[in-house]
Amino acid sequence: MTEPLSVVTGGAGFIGSHLCSRLLAEGHLVYCVDNFITGSPANIEHLVGNERFTLIEHDVSKPVYVGPHVDNVLHFASPASPVDYLELPIQTLKVGSLGTHNSLGLAKHHGARYLLASTSEVYGDPLVHPQPESYWGNVNPVGPRGVYDEAKRFAEAMVMAYHRIHGLDTRIVRIFNTYGPRMRLRDGRVVPNFIRQALSGRALTVYGDGQQTRSFCYIDDLVEGVWRLLNSSETDPVNIGNPHEMTVLQFAEVIRSLTGSASEIKFQPLPVDDPKTRQPDIGRATDLLGWKPRVDLETGLETTISYFAQLLDT
Ligand code: NAD
Ligand code: UDP
Repeated sequence: MTEPLSVVTGGAGFIGSHLCSRLLAEGHLVYCVDNFITGSPANIEHLVGNERFTLIEHDVSKPVYVGPHVDNVLHFASPASPVDYLELPIQTLKVGSLGTHNSLGLAKHHGARYLLASTSEVYGDPLVHPQPESYWGNVNPVGPRGVYDEAKRFAEAMVMAYHRIHGLDTRIVRIFNTYGPRMRLRDGRVVPNFIRQALSGRALTVYGDGQQTRSFCYIDDLVEGVWRLLNSSETDPVNIGNPHEMTVLQFAEVIRSLTGSASEIKFQPLPVDDPKTRQPDIGRATDLLGWKPRVDLETGLETTISYFAQLLDT
């Protein structure tokens, strides 16, 4: 029997690089397709040289052909930090729409299984709390975040159309805020921002009054959830995230305490349409996949803080 071959778009990004490692560890051959727009060769340097890993530098918003056989296509390519997608609005819309279409076409050509990395942003600024998959969301299509949220909503619709019309074997994971090593130090998301600021003695920039909430999932838990979903038969969307919710201000205190930092807190304007609350309902992930997060916030953050401390030293 030949080894399964998995194509990971966005494989040189934060989540994608961890996913490539997991797939290799599970015995897959891996093709990583990435144009490095927000990813980095450093994220996959430990994989380059592994004969079962192939890097294809390519913009997946243009058609993508790989073969001779493909068993799984996992579409993770997309800017994901609000700062990134506000700087790259058209690329974000294109990779969510054209990139999803092209990667679906690749899966259809090979009769491969397809998994879309969707997001809690499909719920927008939610009016239902916590968010179950059955909630349709509250998204502003013409606001600055619309480029990401609507691209992912379009991507989900496209995946379901390929499933219904072409019988493609599809999965949709709605990922909630995930953190860990290999996030970019300056990607602008709250985890790298606060850790970098705390470690360098600068003020922690809390946006708004810091009363908005988030729930943070460690990367290893997320990858385990994605792996279980890929191997399940569930074709409807599944939330994967950590339900441990806190305010951004409380999160700033956690970072100050774990880093032993005396940094002050500086309040800055809240970005437009910043969701006020976010917490995943993980009932479906638990029932269908037997999944729940295992890594507590302190443990996950300690590993992440060590990673960023090393980057700041070099
Ligand atoms: P990331 O920016 O680290 O990784 C994205 C990767 O996609 C990068 O390597 C980038 O170069 C690549 N990419 C972007 N556009 C591309 C294109 N047109 N062609 C080829 N490659 C392209 O972000 P991440 O946090 O690892 O997010 C990965 C995926 O997970 C994204 O689809 C994102 O929407 C989704 N997601 C992440 C989170 C999170 O908390 N990290 C939450 C929800 C959803
Ligand atoms: N945030 C903050 N300070 C920062 C970066 C982010 O207060 O330096 C807030 C942001 O306004 C949001 C939350 O932290 O309410 C999470 O932001 P992030 O960019 O990590 O991702 P989001 O959950 O908004 O997609």
